[in-house]
Amino acid sequence: MKEKEYGPVSGSTIFGGISGQKTIIMAANTRIATVARGIFKAAKDTDSAVFMELARSECDLEGGYTGLTPKDFSEKMSKAAREAEFDIWALHADHITIKTGSATEIEQTRQLIDAQILAGYTSFAIDASHLFNFEGKNVREDLEKNIRITSDMALYIKNRIKGKDFGLEVEVGEIGRKDGHGLVLTKPEEAVEFIKALHANGVYPHVLAIANGSVHGHVYDEKGNVIEQLSIDIPKTRAVATALRENNLHVGIAQHGITGTPRDLINLHFPKGDIIKGNVGTFWQDVVFNTLKVYEPALYKDIEEWTLGKYRAQNPGKKDRQIFDGNCKYAIKEFFKELYTVEEDTERAIQAMAYAESLVFFKAFSSSGSASLVRKAMSEHSE
Ligand SMILES: [Zn+2]
Repeated sequence: MKEKEYGPVSGSTIFGGISGQKTIIMAANTRIATVARGIFKAAKDTDSAVFMELARSECDLEGGYTGLTPKDFSEKMSKAAREAEFDIWALHADHITIKTGSATEIEQTRQLIDAQILAGYTSFAIDASHLFNFEGKNVREDLEKNIRITSDMALYIKNRIKGKDFGLEVEVGEIGRKDGHGLVLTKPEEAVEFIKALHANGVYPHVLAIANGSVHGHVYDEKGNVIEQLSIDIPKTRAVATALRENNLHVGIAQHGITGTPRDLINLHFPKGDIIKGNVGTFWQDVVFNTLKVYEPALYKDIEEWTLGKYRAQNPGKKDRQIFDGNCKYAIKEFFKELYTVEEDTERAIQAMAYAESLVFFKAFSSSGSASLVRKAMSEHSE
């Protein structure tokens, strides 16, 4: 087998291949890349297409908080795919976040995109959802800046990737944003207006991330205890998907913030096929740290002490557990060398855990068989 056969395929090819299916493709934010091999093995054994992704905050030209540049991330994912001999995966840039739209920020974003393209990324998520105009007189005015920046960046990718297909995710409604009444949810008319405006600019996203009740990472009650619940608003999510369909806009929903949702509830209640991409991030970090607790208690203790020492003062009144959960991601760069040189039995356990947990995600997402559908679409395309 040639090495390149296990390189990433275009995100657009995966979305095209599963079109019309009641399936969700898992997108794994592998902040500590060791989990990737287990995920790919499970993807292979269940015939599930998969996305491997990191957000701008996690991975940028300086290494983000994972210590990985786009090139490092690409190499680690490609190596893991090769070792697992798995072919149907996309290398995705999660949350290319643009917060102000300033000239400097745009220039830095272009440099990041250039590096991602050079590293072989096949899919991109532009997130200008923060640029919501709360003083707008109508939906269009509310979204104007997001529309403009998202279009500019998508057309930049199209221009720089030189005719190659790529997956495109865009975002309307900032995930986890709250006002005085709780989480702010995306309205169907906002999603429709946003996608229509992008189409008018020649930009055709495959997936749309919306604010539908989820938050990134774990959810806590007022006492600081983790609560497991179905946090997304299913009827509102369906309403957005239905509105998009009724307007003949072929775009699925990307669900962010899945870590806190039990998989039995995902399996029974998520609108599969309306939601077509499911991002799982914090969960994989937990797999690594929970394994270290038992296999490398001294390292775990160092990480715990560093995290609490650094972030306790900034989080008065919060339990240690919550402070650790919320900030241990910043320890990844600090302990980079240690995390990537764990004992062989530790690594084996991390990969086995990642494998087993992936099986459960793929089951809950009904993604089994999706890889073959994508392969079929690819072979029909090349005939
Ligand atoms: Zn996200």
